[in-house]
Amino acid sequence: MNILVLPGDGIGPEITDAAMRVLERVQQALALDLSFDVREIGLTSLQSSGTTLPSSVLDACRRADGIILGPVSTAAYPPRTEGGINASAELRIQLDLFANVRPSRTRDGLPHWGRTPMDLVIVRENTEGFYADRNMHRGSGELMPTPDLALSIRKISAFASSRIAHAAFELAAARRRHVTAVHKSNVLGVTEGLFLREVRAAAKVHPGVAYDEQLVDSMAALLVRDAARFDVIATTNMFGDILSDEAAELSGSLGLAASINFGERHCMAQAQHGSAPDIAGRNKANPTSLILSAAMLIDWLGRRHDHATLTAAARIIESSVDALLQRPSTRTIDLGGPLGTREFTSELCKAIDAGTL
Ligand code: NAD
Repeated sequence: MNILVLPGDGIGPEITDAAMRVLERVQQALALDLSFDVREIGLTSLQSSGTTLPSSVLDACRRADGIILGPVSTAAYPPRTEGGINASAELRIQLDLFANVRPSRTRDGLPHWGRTPMDLVIVRENTEGFYADRNMHRGSGELMPTPDLALSIRKISAFASSRIAHAAFELAAARRRHVTAVHKSNVLGVTEGLFLREVRAAAKVHPGVAYDEQLVDSMAALLVRDAARFDVIATTNMFGDILSDEAAELSGSLGLAASINFGERHCMAQAQHGSAPDIAGRNKANPTSLILSAAMLIDWLGRRHDHATLTAAARIIESSVDALLQRPSTRTIDLGGPLGTREFTSELCKAIDAGTL
């Protein structure tokens, strides 16, 4: 299977290198059939080819079995007309990666910041919502009628709400069988009402999964106070983006937060965090988020292609990460440990060897 690797900007090259090293290690141990194709995007590609996302790379993404996308420094990009394309957004739109799945869990021995342990997954709609680049057939979802008046348009459709709801219920059926829809229908009755209508309809066809609802503001507080009560959280694009960063940080660090974006045909692994330019190139980044995202990708590929060794490889990566995070001496700097990006990755490769020999 061909994995396309796009290192991206900032800490991207360091953490994608780490993710590839780990996949190569499980590949050796379990005789997987993975091949890697690394392509340049982002600010280096802007210098060499005038765009942060060349069309040849987009074509390669369409052909690949899976994609690993490093974080991109979108805040430093020029306008799209001058070559600044946000690869994260563009790939979600072009490949119809409608579901962004973002797990957060606490781990034995690793300090967490919420009041209870947590093991939850936020399932975030990825193709509409309060995102100006995905809401209009032509033009932007942000408008400025006068210099002192700005408007944002948020799109919520029955189609997108229904398919994200079904993705959430299907995931919950394989976990603790509980979905919570997060919304703000008390002030956005029409759009949030439509979202809830579709999630409630999905709940009816999944009677084996318990269903409840929370307002997004209450949810922000409950993640701190009582996250243990949640299993799968289904929500719209912007709420999911914000709540998943909160959940990740409460679980220990944003540097632990894995995610995949998937659609009917494609899957892309992507760390939840950004390109961290403040620590780029200094061997200080925690690569766990992207490594666990890569594990989620091979798990997705294993399920899709009925390839049990790939799902087994994903479990080995996850348990090896857990084993390292238990000990303060094998943690990265953001978690108060002594290890740089490369050293943590080496320790992880040793733990994988120990778990697979
Ligand atoms: P950020 O997530 O890059 O960084 C926030 C803070 O967390 C920083 O202090 C950073 O050092 C730290 N951090 C992030 N990831 C870490 C890791 N793996 N290990 C250790 N520490 C880590 O957010 P930001 O500073 O707001 O954004 C920086 C750039 O990233 C901007 O250009 C922004 O547009 C872009 N961004 C990209 C994505 C993406 O590619 N999906 C997401 C968010 C932000």
